[in-house]
Amino acid sequence: MKIDTNSTIEGFKKYVIPNYIRNPVVLTRGKGVYLWDSDGRRYLDLFSGWAVSSLGHCHPRVASAIIRQAKLLVHAPNIFYTAAQGRLAKLISNNSFGGLCFFCNSGAEANEAAIKLARIHYSPQEKYKIITMHNSFHGRTMAALAATAQPKYHKGFSPMLEGFTFVPFNDLEAVKRAVDDKTCAVMLEPIQGEGGINIASQEYLKGLRRLCDELRLLLILDEVQCGMGRTGKYFAYHHYGITPDIMTLAKSLGNGTAIGTMVARPDLANSLVPGSHASTFGGNPLACAAGIAVFETIEMERLLDNASEMGTYSMERLNALAEKFPGLMKEVRGIGLMIGIELEKEGATLVKKCLERGLILNCTHENVIRFMPPLNVKKKHIDAGIAILEDTLEEYK
Ligand SMILES: *Cc1c(COP(=O)(O)O)cnc(C)c1O
Repeated sequence: MKIDTNSTIEGFKKYVIPNYIRNPVVLTRGKGVYLWDSDGRRYLDLFSGWAVSSLGHCHPRVASAIIRQAKLLVHAPNIFYTAAQGRLAKLISNNSFGGLCFFCNSGAEANEAAIKLARIHYSPQEKYKIITMHNSFHGRTMAALAATAQPKYHKGFSPMLEGFTFVPFNDLEAVKRAVDDKTCAVMLEPIQGEGGINIASQEYLKGLRRLCDELRLLLILDEVQCGMGRTGKYFAYHHYGITPDIMTLAKSLGNGTAIGTMVARPDLANSLVPGSHASTFGGNPLACAAGIAVFETIEMERLLDNASEMGTYSMERLNALAEKFPGLMKEVRGIGLMIGIELEKEGATLVKKCLERGLILNCTHENVIRFMPPLNVKKKHIDAGIAILEDTLEEYK
């Protein structure tokens, strides 16, 4: 069936809540690093939908796993066991810090679970406060929103849930000063995504781990965007020689199927007793089958190595570009394939112009272009993308 561009967009105007600014493009299919629209135009996708489609679009192994599972069992209530949920939990646990998993359907929900676990765990001591970082992003539900230390997201939704204290990112002393006798946890993204690709320093994250040990606080790492191989290691914290007490994942965990998880140290995890928390769809066999296929693909195609190699290559190419456009490109920063290009001016227009030339990128925090290709990207795709970016910058400067 031919999908008509105009009538599709008109239908949205009539029937879909306009809470997104959408490009006038109707996407119809994807394969690998490419997407196609309803007029048959092809786009090079070096953004991966906020790092969700980390194996590229419609990866054959993930697609087969979904089809196979869809014919067996799509949903099972969590008052029963399923093999898929158990197998995915084992993969996550064995590749991280031996924690136990609670499954949900999104990043925000994973963070809600982390916040609830921290509170219930420390409820006998009546501790409930969580310290989070300026420019963080933890999701849009009310607790995750309250944890998100960016006023623009809070506007219009007061009163916020109590118990969050905000401090500057990468400032250990500020965390020390913010702790009081009601503090139960410190929560952060090791690499801030929406905040503009800000990387925690070694001293900072190691210092936070030490501080949390000393004061018996929980260290909660939100790896919803930076986890699952994005940085060239399974989890961003693997670059720091520390382990968190709780970690949250979502975005690329199911390569596009809706899935999130909170992983917690076993002794903590047991505080989430039956009746304290739940999710109807969480850990359904369909999403878990996709998650298992993601882990298998990362291993079989050695995608952690590819992500670091292609990350290094991208950084070299982008830094060379930055030298060519000194008044326009301020800094290129990133780890692996989680890369931000900070501009001297706003970036939304640049992103729009790239799209017109068939390249999908994204702008966050006003002036940071996000470059997050799939983990199996090849040099030729990066070259093609950077060529378009270069032409666009030429026009944009
Ligand atoms: C996207 C994101 C979230 C929220 O995830 P949703 O699936 O949109 O709820 C939370 N934390 C981080 C770091 C994110 O990038």
